[in-house]
Amino acid sequence: MRRAVSVGAGVMSALLVADMLINLAAGEAGAAALAPFELATAGFTALVAIIVRRGGVRAEAMALAVLLVVFATALLGIVVMPVGRVAASAQLAILLVGAGLFLPWQRRWHVAAVLSAVGLALGFVVSPLAVFLGDTDRVGLAAAVLMAGVTSVIGQGLWQTRLRGMLVQQFELRHLNRYARRQEVHVNELNRELNRVARRDSLTGVGNRLALDEAVARLLDQGDRLRPVPFALALFDIDHFKRYNDRYGHLAGDAALGRLGEILRRATRGGDLAFRYGGEEFLLLLPGADLQGAIAAAERVRVAAAEDSSGLPAFTVSGGVALCDPADGRDPEPLLRRADAALYLAKRAGRNRIAADELSVAMQRQGIASA
Ligand code: GH3
Ligand code: MG
Ligand code: MG
Repeated sequence: MRRAVSVGAGVMSALLVADMLINLAAGEAGAAALAPFELATAGFTALVAIIVRRGGVRAEAMALAVLLVVFATALLGIVVMPVGRVAASAQLAILLVGAGLFLPWQRRWHVAAVLSAVGLALGFVVSPLAVFLGDTDRVGLAAAVLMAGVTSVIGQGLWQTRLRGMLVQQFELRHLNRYARRQEVHVNELNRELNRVARRDSLTGVGNRLALDEAVARLLDQGDRLRPVPFALALFDIDHFKRYNDRYGHLAGDAALGRLGEILRRATRGGDLAFRYGGEEFLLLLPGADLQGAIAAAERVRVAAAEDSSGLPAFTVSGGVALCDPADGRDPEPLLRRADAALYLAKRAGRNRIAADELSVAMQRQGIASA
């Protein structure tokens, strides 16, 4: 309210000065007589604007005072400036309606202001000051002021109800918006967590079959026929694990699987990725690796398992290594079959060792020969 009154009074003051200057410039009869009153009213209104801005006074009371003083000046204009009568009546009506629509004051203050202003106008109409007005003009002025007063009071009621409704709606909307945004963040977090959990093997902590299939597909998709992205696979299988389970129990077997998962996670470097291929079989995906690098990585895992000092019953693993062959295109099956064949070689050769498949060895030799 304070801001509305101080801004409104400031604007009113400027309008009064402008009105006075226009009348004087036009050389209207009575303009000079009215000028001091208009100036005084403009000064008073500007003062109110400053006082209200500073605070410490009741803005409603100040608004009421401004309304009545400006009203009185407009009525005086009707007396001293015969040509301005129609404009003055319009001003009175605008003041009353504007007081209802633009000032957010409480209803009782507004009704008091309108009643005082209408009373002032009606008193003026029947007073000797208005003897020069014809009967029709007097009735017309009284009717205009009364209608403007009624419009102001009814309009303010409607306007404020609407405004309150709009504010409530806006508040609810903002609240809902904030709630929706919070929910979205939460859902995104849950989604990320879900994606993570869906791709992790819970017993061993490495990626599961789904994660493996996606990672291999990604690698195969990255290169093209002319410039394939080289990578290698190392497939591991725990030796005599059936016997291990029989001898130490299934829970000990599970613990050994968990331990091997840990060893694999430790063995991964850079872009390497570890997965549980199924049962007691695990897989290392080694992007950019050549055969020697892949065999070295697999050896690290084999040695770490064989020399494990975590206190679990000892176990060993065998591994089969295979290089990706660009001739296989985007099909991962031949590569996995070759890794499996290499693993079979390692088992047949006595277990606890790493072997590579024939094609990978030939590819490596050819690569070295052509280099
Ligand atoms: P090999 O050296 O030839 O690999 O012999 P193996 O006994 O390891 O081979 P096989 O594939 O016959 O046995 C795999 C065993 O792994 C059988 C199964 O009970 C065990 N196994 C598979 N998944 C799990 C598991 O999640 N927990 C436990 N404790 N054992 C499992
Ligand atoms: Mg097996
Ligand atoms: Mg086995």
